Amino acid sequence: MNVDQLRSRIAGRVIEPGDPEYGDARKLFYGGMDRKPAHIVRVAGPADVAHTIEFARDSGLELAVRSGGHSVAGHSVNDGGVVIDLHDMRGLAIDATARTAWAETGLTALDYTAASHEHGLATGFGDSGSVGIGGLTLGGGVGYLSRKQGLTIDNLIAADVVTADGELVHADAESHSDLFWAIRGGGGNFGVATRFQYRLHEVGTVYGGMLILPATADAIASFIAAAEAAPDELSAIASVMPAPPMPFLSPDQVGKRVILAMIVCTGPLDAAARAVAPFRSLAEPIADMLRPMPYPEIYPPEAPNYHPIASSRTMLVDTVDPNVVMEHLDASKAKFQVAQIRVLGGAIARVPVNATAYAHRARRIMVNVACLYEQPEEAAIHDVWADRFWRALQNGEPGAYVNFLGIDGPSRLREAYPGDTWDRLCAVKSRYDPANVFRLNQNVPPARGGAVVRKLES
Ligand SMILES: Cc1cc2nc3c(=O)[nH]c(=O)nc-3n(C[C@H](O)[C@H](O)[C@H](O)COP(=O)(O)OP(=O)(O)OC[C@H]3O[C@@H](n4cnc5c(N)ncnc54)[C@H](O)[C@@H]3O)c2cc1C
Repeated sequence: MNVDQLRSRIAGRVIEPGDPEYGDARKLFYGGMDRKPAHIVRVAGPADVAHTIEFARDSGLELAVRSGGHSVAGHSVNDGGVVIDLHDMRGLAIDATARTAWAETGLTALDYTAASHEHGLATGFGDSGSVGIGGLTLGGGVGYLSRKQGLTIDNLIAADVVTADGELVHADAESHSDLFWAIRGGGGNFGVATRFQYRLHEVGTVYGGMLILPATADAIASFIAAAEAAPDELSAIASVMPAPPMPFLSPDQVGKRVILAMIVCTGPLDAAARAVAPFRSLAEPIADMLRPMPYPEIYPPEAPNYHPIASSRTMLVDTVDPNVVMEHLDASKAKFQVAQIRVLGGAIARVPVNATAYAHRARRIMVNVACLYEQPEEAAIHDVWADRFWRALQNGEPGAYVNFLGIDGPSRLREAYPGDTWDRLCAVKSRYDPANVFRLNQNVPPARGGAVVRKLES
């Protein structure tokens, strides 16, 4: 198939260099990349996806898949290749009685959350409204409802996936259960997910928002202890970082290192107010914006043209040494540096470790360290900083959450998928994508000899 034939067969459209939309269509959330795909295919449905896969295979062009464009590694755009862009696939069908929703994968976390809020319902995603439900769900999905309701994948009931041979497959616990296992944590390795069916939970008004505390080693340690002691209804993300300019901060407070915590507590508001109280009393708050609020307000508006350049490392740990945090933040030469700490546990830990491809159920804390800077050429020095920071913090079995990995190399990918998880993913890969068509991702290669598995079984 050539590109003209592709164009004539799809209901969507092909965006190419010179088209007015091309400049924006090739941009990802992260800046510092200047990749120019030959064809960005804004697909309108699974048939378009299948045609585009066929076109990429026939033409030998590299294939990227993009939902929300927040890939930390920049995997959802390429140079000279084809991008399947799900941007226009934003259908959402909510069954408020059954508390389920079918969502096309071009939706963002905020699109979905705002719509489900109309019914007083929610499915948990991550901490940013602009992140795509596509990539986020396939990698796991850790966010504000995780300790109560599990990861996003723990609320995934089914998915429609177009596989490497163009077949539209419905995967759930009964049908293609191996694929359903793999896409819950294994990322975009197995096909293009066109829609997901999620479980919804009653989440209307929550008690939460932003709490800013002075960052001292004691306050960081106490924050982690409070988050671990909190009821499952409460999930907190604490970023140790310089205070950004905000209307309620005085000029002398801006730039001072703070713990900027985002907290969500579900359930009865009086109990939630009691659950957040220990955080408020850790130190004299610099700003206390915790209050009853509609859940979608946890996703504040984002500047559409914000494309930071970052060096980052992610890890799963059992403890955090706050002195190491302070020392390494001090050592950064970047404009902005952050250590983001998420206490896990709760419902995440109650799912058996082998039930999904997210293998870190027992890990207590996720930490992401990152710095932001202006010139891509500076990356090398900041990567060294991030590496040192990560190595200094790492404790327990080395672990990584795949959705926060950048170009971190094969050993870190194995930390995302330890032990049996890796072997099982490779086996599923060889069944659904033996030629590794979907390789521009945190790539799991097909197990050797796997190409015959599907043939024999079909
Ligand atoms: C600012 C920011 C905040 C974040 N916060 C959180 C958070 O709180 N919790 C959390 O869990 N993660 C978080 N992440 C990580 C995020 O989950 C991953 O970057 C995720 O891959 C982004 O999904 P996307 O669809 O926006 O990205 P894209 O760049 O569109 O896709 C990333 C990759 O996912 C695969 N993919 C995407 N859609 C599909 C699909 N439909 N079918 C097949 N493969 C697909 C592809 O391999 C693609 O390269 C954050 C990332 C950023 C940049």
